[in-house]
Amino acid sequence: MTVVTGHCLCGVCRYEHAGPLEPGGICYCEDCRRVTGSAFGVSFRADKANLKRFGLTMAYPKIADSGARLTRHFCKFCGSPMYTLSDAHPDSVYVKAGTLNDPNLLTIDRQMWLCSRVSWSQPPPDIQSFDKGRT
Ligand SMILES: [Zn+2]
Ligand SMILES: [Zn+2]
Repeated sequence: MTVVTGHCLCGVCRYEHAGPLEPGGICYCEDCRRVTGSAFGVSFRADKANLKRFGLTMAYPKIADSGARLTRHFCKFCGSPMYTLSDAHPDSVYVKAGTLNDPNLLTIDRQMWLCSRVSWSQPPPDIQSFDKGRT
């Protein structure tokens, strides 16, 4: 079986995903902008049961623009954003795609919160687009 791996900047936080990845999404919401320090966040959903996580994280809970309570996890040592848990979807982990050891294994099929997009990011024209969150 395919195992997809990833890690943070310092390598302490790692994960192993059993099986191929689901397509990921781009999010332009203000929280994703701030937490990445960039124009948008890119993440993919994984089943908790398929994702082995290693290393200490620091957790930061916050109510998102969507109203959902999200807990963002960062490497305790280097601070890299690693993944997000949602109270509304307790069996899912939303992994930051830039942590993948081979980011080209991921495809992107949607973009969200275009209403918050900054002028200096160019959205891909050919994927599902949502002005706010996906319903
Ligand atoms: Zn780290
Ligand atoms: Zn977002």
